[in-house]
Amino acid sequence: MPRRPLIDFRATRRGRVWWAAAALEEALREAQRAYPSETGGLLLGWSPQPAAVVISEVIGPGPRAGHHARTFTPDSAWQEEQLAQAYELAGRRLQYLGDWHTHPRGTVRLSGTDRATLRHIAEHPDARADYPVMAVLAGGPLWQVAVRQQVRRRGGPRLLSLEVWESPTDRSE
Ligand SMILES: [Zn+2]
Repeated sequence: MPRRPLIDFRATRRGRVWWAAAALEEALREAQRAYPSETGGLLLGWSPQPAAVVISEVIGPGPRAGHHARTFTPDSAWQEEQLAQAYELAGRRLQYLGDWHTHPRGTVRLSGTDRATLRHIAEHPDARADYPVMAVLAGGPLWQVAVRQQVRRRGGPRLLSLEVWESPTDRSE
């Protein structure tokens, strides 16, 4: 469970996300590796309620992903394999929460496409996440992080207050 929050990036009244330090570092490393091209992947963890999201793992773009300045195309087949493996290891206690991607040399503001993607996931009951989350890492080589969640079918997503936590297993590595 969340413990030892290290950094409070932004304070908001509603909604909070805890991101495991090791998983956030993995995303930051990948952001830097792909810079100045865009990259991203999947967010895994659990969400006991819409206002509380715990990100424990990230999945990267995959070896056959295409990276461009303003877009990237994930290697979906590879991601599905990774997702299946993660579910297997966690005994299915993990859930898919949403996606993360970078805005190299940009800001954490969502693009029109980002907003449409979130709404699309939220509107479709067959999507794997009821209240999808979208994390944006912007800038490089210093990165700003913002995590938003679509909690209503209409309207914009809300910014979640972000805390970084270290899980006990991180320390044994
Ligand atoms: Zn974007």
